[in-house]
Amino acid sequence: MILNMKQLLSVANEEKFAVPAFNISSLPMLNGVIATCEELNSPVIIEIHPDELSYVGDSFIKTVVDKANKTKIPVVIHLDHGANIPQVVRAIKDGFSSVMIDGSTLSFKDNIELTKKVVEIAHTVDVSVEAEIGTIGAETGDEYASTKDIRYTVPDDAKKFVDETGCDTLAVAIGTAHGLYPKHFTPHLKLDLLSEIKELVKIPLVLHGGSSNPDEEVAEAVNRGINKINISSDIKLAFYTKCREVLARNENIREPNVIYPECIESMSEVVKHKVKLFKSNDKVKYYY
Ligand SMILES: [Zn+2]
Repeated sequence: MILNMKQLLSVANEEKFAVPAFNISSLPMLNGVIATCEELNSPVIIEIHPDELSYVGDSFIKTVVDKANKTKIPVVIHLDHGANIPQVVRAIKDGFSSVMIDGSTLSFKDNIELTKKVVEIAHTVDVSVEAEIGTIGAETGDEYASTKDIRYTVPDDAKKFVDETGCDTLAVAIGTAHGLYPKHFTPHLKLDLLSEIKELVKIPLVLHGGSSNPDEEVAEAVNRGINKINISSDIKLAFYTKCREVLARNENIREPNVIYPECIESMSEVVKHKVKLFKSNDKVKYYY
């Protein structure tokens, strides 16, 4: 069942849980994530970044749409970090039910202007829009996140931004960073800042860079009003660590249907852990 993000997260906001958004960019990962969430009766967000979309191609989204239509769990197909209007329009044409426009590195005024335009386009076809204010550091594609670039979200700005743009969900910067953290770096969430933002902004809030923050802090962020958490590095690490092991075990191995099942299983353990941590398990019942 395909929903847009507003439909999916209004329930999560009401019932105080967060839906995991998994960045998948291959069929084995898509299949593994959907199967695991079916098993746990959890709604799920299938998230694809523009770079991932360029890699998998537009036709791949037809497969995602088909799978989402055939499963009983609620699924949102979401564009992660759309940078401009052409990327957003491409995603809508492909069948995404939700898009992010990330103007967080622009000035406050330019971010509002760009987000407003995207909201106008997307809402015409019932596609929801996630925006971002404050920034959690660039996605450099480096192995480790750049933790020095975090600019925390200012609560009053967040309220003004949401009122002016009409966005459906808002990504906030409260102390996470993209990717994996450098060794010996312990990330901390500013939970009081989150509570202040939630006081003023009533729409669902989103946490990016949710991989490898301490579980207790993430659980508390969910209690305090985070309704969507992006997970990318953690599932890819599990998948490809196992993949390296499988390939090293037998150098003649070459069939995808022999190599990938163990990798999917390893990734699924992480998916299960995140679903339960975010309290998204057994929530499908709220959508029927
Ligand atoms: Zn992000």
